[in-house]
Amino acid sequence: CGIVGYIGHRDAYPVIIKGLQRLEYRGYDSAGVTLFDGNNIHLAKTKGKVEDLKTKAEATIPTSGKLGLGHTRWATHGVPNDVNSHPHYSNSGDLVIIHNGIIENYESIKQALKKRGYTFESDTDTEVLVNLIEEVKNKEGVKLGKAVQIALNQVVGAYAIAVFDKNKPDEIVVAKLGSPLAIGIGENEYFIASDASPFIEFTNNAVYLEDEEMAIIRIGKEIKMRKIKDDAIA
Ligand code: GLU
Repeated sequence: CGIVGYIGHRDAYPVIIKGLQRLEYRGYDSAGVTLFDGNNIHLAKTKGKVEDLKTKAEATIPTSGKLGLGHTRWATHGVPNDVNSHPHYSNSGDLVIIHNGIIENYESIKQALKKRGYTFESDTDTEVLVNLIEEVKNKEGVKLGKAVQIALNQVVGAYAIAVFDKNKPDEIVVAKLGSPLAIGIGENEYFIASDASPFIEFTNNAVYLEDEEMAIIRIGKEIKMRKIKDDAIA
């Protein structure tokens, strides 16, 4: 399983596809990609190989866009199929998430969210997390970074996640506990990946998140690193 993300001045798609191929050694059953083209987010995902994803993406979505996330899934909750593949949207369609790991208490959170009107397309624990983040964001009226932090404090499990809001496409929020996550820092561009192999050709400046750390990655800004348990996040 693996994670790749890009935000900057290049086309994200080739960076993500090549990156996912470099992470294939980690093992996976499905793959997916989301791209923000300047106005909208587009999603392609499929059971199978990164090569199958490439074929599907190039046939079904515009592959332009300077912001994108890619994922290879090793299913833990929900069978390997197209719908359960990542990325996953929140109910409003505004938030997109990729996740490696397991949310152990997803079932109780899912039931609570359902009572409050949330619906679910997939059987994954991940779709529960993105909707929890959305609910927190709306209810508390906080920024995405803070919403991710509050949500993760309600979660038991392991994760490397990357999330963005299509209404704020200059920012990606990432967090880690148990699963690996590295950030590559370039000139006015950032890379995200499970290890440095997807971005080693672009930059040798990398930050590895520690467990219980999160980062707010914004174009034109320094990375903001935070402890997930710290309540001082802005
Ligand atoms: N638990 C998530 C799922 O089953 C993520 C699995 C993974 O690490 O790829 O969809």
